[in-house]
Amino acid sequence: MGFKVLILGSGSALPTNHRNPTAQYIFCNNRHILIDCGEGTQIQLRKNKVRLQKIDTILISHLHGDHYFGLVGLISTMHLLGRDRDLTIYGPDPLEKIVRMQLEIEGYPLGFKINFVSINGDSAKEIYRDNAIIIRTFPLNHRIPTNGFVIEETPKKLKINKFLFELDKVPIPAAQLFKMSQNYVSNSGQEYSYERYTQAPDKSFKYAYCSDTKYDESIIEHIAGASLLYHEATFANDMKDRARQTYHSTAEQAATIAKKAKVSKLLLGHLSARYGAVYTHLDEAKAVFENTYVVNDGDEIVLY
Ligand SMILES: [Zn+2]
Repeated sequence: MGFKVLILGSGSALPTNHRNPTAQYIFCNNRHILIDCGEGTQIQLRKNKVRLQKIDTILISHLHGDHYFGLVGLISTMHLLGRDRDLTIYGPDPLEKIVRMQLEIEGYPLGFKINFVSINGDSAKEIYRDNAIIIRTFPLNHRIPTNGFVIEETPKKLKINKFLFELDKVPIPAAQLFKMSQNYVSNSGQEYSYERYTQAPDKSFKYAYCSDTKYDESIIEHIAGASLLYHEATFANDMKDRARQTYHSTAEQAATIAKKAKVSKLLLGHLSARYGAVYTHLDEAKAVFENTYVVNDGDEIVLY
């Protein structure tokens, strides 16, 4: 179990020596997810010792090259390494056509199946759920259709109050029912209320991902209360006009969204290559939302 976010690429359209284009690897309760796949993502996965065959789910936010140009390379390598497990890719409509055409021209069939799921940044919805995690998408406000994502743990089960459970000599099979908020009736007809023998479950964590987008308060309802928010901050306040024109955000705007959404921690990334240092972004964001961090390639943020 556990929940962590590994930053594979923290840059924007122009890669630099220190910042690769956007990609993140998410480990959540033994699920392995890639969000965006900029050029060089497979190399970043290797450098950071992530076994790329473990990745079963890829979420693509939008079809600007710095968010998906690494996809065909990654898929080809998975094939060359003998993958036979399915891969599911969520992204805007043209993605399937683009990827399949590139693979077809290579002239050999893949050894595994790719399931493409079309999401086009036009509505908020749940796109995946199992017994441990839920993935949702919601629209961002960018020049082309762009998906934001939320990955969260399913609500955890109630915890047994061992002291009272043992004190009252409750039959052992009752524990499983109590954890699911159900009472237990013994063979002799005695009813045990789950409320007496349980306490609140452990917290469920939630990660929200917003890249790329201009400042847009309609995002807030979808990311509210997140344990961790990644929000693009391509520009600092010196280029606020440029941010608006290009449908990007400043660090201060990202911090304002974080504050209004009452998240616990904010990560800033997708920094424009024109900025050498991160101090300005950090200062401007922290003035609004203190618990802010500017990510670097290779950073691992552990939720628990
Ligand atoms: Zn973009």
